Amino acid sequence: MTRLAPLIERNARLAADYTPVALAPPSSGAVILSCLDHRLPPELVLGLESGEAPVIRNAGGRVTPGVIQDLAFLAFLAEQLLGEAGGEDLFEVAVIHHTQCGTGFLGDATFRRQAAEATGLREDDLAASVVVDPYETVKHDVRRLLEASEISDKVSVSGHVYDLATGRLATVVDASHPGRWANGR
Ligand SMILES: [Zn+2]
Repeated sequence: MTRLAPLIERNARLAADYTPVALAPPSSGAVILSCLDHRLPPELVLGLESGEAPVIRNAGGRVTPGVIQDLAFLAFLAEQLLGEAGGEDLFEVAVIHHTQCGTGFLGDATFRRQAAEATGLREDDLAASVVVDPYETVKHDVRRLLEASEISDKVSVSGHVYDLATGRLATVVDASHPGRWANGR
């Protein structure tokens, strides 16, 4: 037995009524970046079905070198799959940060140093995952993606904050393309 046993049972029930989806660009035209917090499963929060949107998750939903690599690859893949049909807008990356984020503890220097010593992780990397004010960090991360030269200019980026107290998602930064950032806001 494993702790996963009851979840595997749920999977068996779901699989009984399963319809496969072919590999294709996300049908919603969106790619989600969010925190790994288990109180905000993006598929449930956004009502996503299979095939609608890739979801990338990490602590805080922060933009890291790994996230940039994943998005650069997804953009390349979308361009290959869509060809001319992709036009100038391959997909929109929606960055979602949230209130009450557990990474907030890492905003405290003493806690951060203890965490670094216990795990061997670099303090700088831990500091980079902190979300204390999601309305500020989401703007910062949208800008970071728009400035990432690895990601195709045909990818747009927007920023949102999910409020755990209400279950509501608010758009903080409207979708924009690289190069238009400086003029737009
Ligand atoms: Zn979080």
